[in-house]
Amino acid sequence: MKKRWLAMFMALVLLLTAAGCSQPAQETGAGTEEQETVSQAETQQNEADGRDEQTQVVIVGAGGAGMAAAIEATDQGLEVILLEKLSLIGGTTAMASTAYNAGGMRLQLEADPPYTADDAYRDWVGDGEDDPFLRLLADRSGATGDWLVDMGADLGQFNGKQVMTSDGSALGNMLVTVLGDNVSSRDIDLRTETRATELTVDENGRVTGVQVEDKEGAYTIYADAVILATGGFASNPEMVDEYTPQWSGYPSTASVGATGDGITMGLAVGAALDDMDNAGPQSVAYDTGSGAVSLTNVRYNGAILVNSDGVRFTSESGPSMPIATAITEQEGGYAYLIFDQASVDNAALMQDYKDRGYFTEAETVEELAEALEINAEALAQTVENYHTVYDTGVDEEFGRNNHIFSRLDQAPYYGVKISPANQTTYGGLLIDLETHVLREDGTVIEGLYAAGEVAACRGSGTSIALVLGKLAGEVVAEEVGAGD
Ligand SMILES: Cc1cc2nc3c(=O)[nH]c(=O)nc-3n(C[C@H](O)[C@H](O)[C@H](O)COP(=O)(O)OP(=O)(O)OC[C@H]3O[C@@H](n4cnc5c(N)ncnc54)[C@H](O)[C@@H]3O)c2cc1C
Repeated sequence: MKKRWLAMFMALVLLLTAAGCSQPAQETGAGTEEQETVSQAETQQNEADGRDEQTQVVIVGAGGAGMAAAIEATDQGLEVILLEKLSLIGGTTAMASTAYNAGGMRLQLEADPPYTADDAYRDWVGDGEDDPFLRLLADRSGATGDWLVDMGADLGQFNGKQVMTSDGSALGNMLVTVLGDNVSSRDIDLRTETRATELTVDENGRVTGVQVEDKEGAYTIYADAVILATGGFASNPEMVDEYTPQWSGYPSTASVGATGDGITMGLAVGAALDDMDNAGPQSVAYDTGSGAVSLTNVRYNGAILVNSDGVRFTSESGPSMPIATAITEQEGGYAYLIFDQASVDNAALMQDYKDRGYFTEAETVEELAEALEINAEALAQTVENYHTVYDTGVDEEFGRNNHIFSRLDQAPYYGVKISPANQTTYGGLLIDLETHVLREDGTVIEGLYAAGEVAACRGSGTSIALVLGKLAGEVVAEEVGAGD
């Protein structure tokens, strides 16, 4: 089973690499899914075949949150079925590139100065009001990080605030490998290509299970607890139009599985939604035609951002949101990253992107501008102006204050057309501090829990998914009662 699992994950890694981190096109195309319809005859056959079953916990979605919940619930003695609609596990967690955000991990407490859960909470809450949810996430982030390390995760580098892999390689690949191995070694009943379609409820509104579809048809898994861990909705254009229209029409860098299924299923049984218009877009993404690839690495490697007039319009440093917003305000809602050979030489990933054919290349800035169909004279002037930013370290116009290591004077020159992309969504099912899904009136929907991007989490990220997944596992163990 372990071997089969590993093979599945390696296939995922290869496919992600080949497709530039977008998930395999055979699943869906760019962020939409073909739902296989199950005929009434097949459903009746399944019922006749007695495929319906009963378990203690059914978890929908084998990304970071779902696998963490499955491992924790199993370790607490519960019988678990873990469902994944795609043929591969990992979801958007597999795409996470960089940081596990936490405070109070052993590594962080041993550092000088140490970085505690309190420090993380203060950084996350900023100038905002006291927030019990962020407090919960901060308080549990350290122990959850150490739990992952104890299961084999390489979270060995600390930059003073965030935790990363020891060699700076992709966070998500590592996490999904470790979580997948731990799901496998516990013999958890993982069912890929099995889509949850609907929650079942009893006459009191308690969730009693979930209806699923696989290649053979539809059946119902009845359970004492259902944990929704289906991720966000960045790859569902209709939901983006409805809830985060500010990012309509842009591609998605998230998994093709991020179609908001858990939100839809929760809504159907009376769950409340929260924070639905809030999202964390990627600022600079390259649209491959079958999904989008984050080019943050290019932005961090000395590139400048220009519009089709060949002029800069924002600082290239800083958080994604203001940059993404500035790009939406340019002609056509897109922009270009412009850089030189010094940037490509600086990171293996840059060379990899070049080899994949993402970049346009030319011997002079003017030739590059012509190839990209942007104003050549203006771009040449912009690049010349940028020499002064590099030479003085001061960007008087836009205040760029980091990643200024390339003077943009080493041919060949490169450019790539980019746009913002839908990446993570912050809104989702309203939950309490124990991952119970709530109704509009604040009452708990018995039997239903949610963890990760499917829930309204004040943000998104691997640590949020893993903290809440593990917590959901603990809570169901307490409420369902291991060994009952
Ligand atoms: C390009 C990129 C880079 C990122 N970098 C970082 C980073 O550096 N640090 C960080 O903290 N975060 C990062 N994130 C965000 C982070 O990866 C996610 O927010 C988080 O991992 C989401 O985890 P999840 O378990 O909630 O969802 P997912 O990992 O998406 O898992 C959900 C799973 O549920 C499955 N599913 C959905 N519907 C159904 C259904 N009906 N039936 C069965 N299965 C279903 C999906 O196929 C998927 O496998 C990044 C995201 C992207 C896109």
